[in-house]
Amino acid sequence: MSETCSERERLISKWSESSRHVARLADEQLAAIKNVDASLAGLHEKIRLAKTEEIEACRAYYFHVGQHDCV
Ligand SMILES: [Zn+2]
Repeated sequence: MSETCSERERLISKWSESSRHVARLADEQLAAIKNVDASLAGLHEKIRLAKTEEIEACRAYYFHVGQHDCV
């Protein structure tokens, strides 16, 4: 398949967006650790959820590619 698959593009951007989200939260967490910030406990849960989303986005991408054969 030579044409770009729009669904594949969408899934890639969703995946990279969720990866950036995890990275951003990890930065916040690092800052909270340094500052002994009270937000640290809440960040653990946010990061856990963001990582779950990232894994789901990754799976959705590979599932689509496997079904659609559009690499
Ligand atoms: Zn596709």
